Formats: sequence, C-alpha cells, structure tokens
Amino acid sequence: MADGGDFQIVNLKTIAPSLTCILCTEPLTNETRLCESGHTFCKKCLPKMGHCMECRAKILVGTRNYLIEKIANVVKYKCHNYYYGCKTLLSEEIHLNHNVTCQYSTIACPLEQIESVRCQWVGTLSQILHHVKAYHSNKITNRNYFCCTSLQDTYWLTVYKGEVFLYCKQKRQTHWYAAVVSVGVTEASFRGVFVLRSFEEDSNEAVEISFTVDLIDAFEQIFVSGRCLVLDDVTVRNFIKNGKINMMVSIEEISSN
Ligand SMILES: [Zn+2]
Ligand SMILES: [Zn+2]
Ligand SMILES: [Zn+2]
Ligand SMILES: [Zn+2]
Repeated sequence: MADGGDFQIVNLKTIAPSLTCILCTEPLTNETRLCESGHTFCKKCLPKMGHCMECRAKILVGTRNYLIEKIANVVKYKCHNYYYGCKTLLSEEIHLNHNVTCQYSTIACPLEQIESVRCQWVGTLSQILHHVKAYHSNKITNRNYFCCTSLQDTYWLTVYKGEVFLYCKQKRQTHWYAAVVSVGVTEASFRGVFVLRSFEEDSNEAVEISFTVDLIDAFEQIFVSGRCLVLDDVTVRNFIKNGKINMMVSIEEISSN
C-alpha cells in the first residue's frame, strides 16, 4: 500500500474544538506553550496564568507544541458566526460550504417575502423549524406532495426531512410561475416536481417538469432566472376546469449515490 494509504479519514468537526487554547479559546495557530501534563495554550496567554488552567500543573516556559500548531493552521478558519456562538473551526475547503448551513446563521422567515404575510421574524437556522410550526402551522402542508388547484396566487410551506420549503405560485400578465425553494437547514439536495394534467378523462395531455431546489431568494429573481415552472395562459388553459387547475407538486430528496 502507498505511504499514508492506511490512514483513516477523520471528521474535522470533531477534532477542531480541541485545537483551541484552554484559556482564550482561540485557534492554536500561533506559538504555543505546554503544561507538564501536556495541556496546550497560546504563548500570549502565558502571562495571564501562573499554572495550567486545566490541571494546575507547572508550565513548561520554553516548550512548544509544534504538531498542534501545524494542525491548527490547516483548520484555522472560523465560521463567520463565531461571535454568535458557532465554535466550529474549518479547513479552507469546507469553510464556504459550512457557512451556508451553519446552525448559527441568522435568516429571515421565508414568509417575509409573501405580501399577505410579511412575517418579520429573524432567527437562526436551528430555530426556523420551531418558528414555522409555531406561527405558520395553517400554511404547512402535511405531506411532501400536494395538489394545488387554486387559480389565485398561492404559497405553502412544507416541512420534510428536517428542511423547510416554500412553494409559491403566481400569475403575472400572461404567464404562470411556480417554484419551490428551501431555507437550507440541511445539507441534502432536493428537487421540486410539478405535474399538470388535463381534467378530461380521454386526454393524455400533461406537463411534468422538475427543478433542483435552490436556497431561498427573492421570487422576483427566481421567476426571471428560468429555474422554475413557467407556462403561458394558452398552455395552462388545457389543465383548467371549473375554476380549478390540476397541478401536483412534490418535493423529493436527490440521493447522493
Ligand atoms: Zn490563548
Ligand atoms: Zn495541564
Ligand atoms: Zn458555523
Ligand atoms: Zn414567520
């Protein structure tokens, strides 16, 4: 086997918290010092302690922990929500990815942009599930698939697999738009599937189209991006009867394998 081939891959999230100073909790990226039992802290914290804060052992004044400094410099990137409580340290590569899903990120309620609601709630990703269930339970679908028959502009929240989705359908002039977005609680990928069928029994006319669910953005933006269902009046007429449109919406997880 090649050199290093038998190393295990370690989840950095579990070791990163140990790469911080026991006194100031900053990452140990600069010169370190050790106590006699091996606890590590930064050199700049040395004047603030007479003995080890962890075990009260004597401090080795001239000894550095080179290995810890080296590792800490690989995973030195603090989450941008560090000062809001996220103590996750990250390598450069996973830094951006984490910032999107950090449970300490503050976000607005997805219904903030729905004109008839304009919910003013702002909180963290870890609080959003509780918020929508407590304040918008009447607008949460109880399944990850639902029928949307209203010709009016419509929105629904869906809570599925730990994620919060917002479905929105709007008519503008001669076109119909529908999209599903997520608030980004989980790192999983989802797709929104729209199926329109004719109400006529002898007709095979149907439209089925799916889109990867994007993170929430202004629907204005989504509707002009083309990453949503866009149909003109003439097409939609085939799927309308007695003031109802025959459309099914479903949200499915895209499995990674
Ligand atoms: Zn320190
Ligand atoms: Zn110690
Ligand atoms: Zn974070
Ligand atoms: Zn809200």
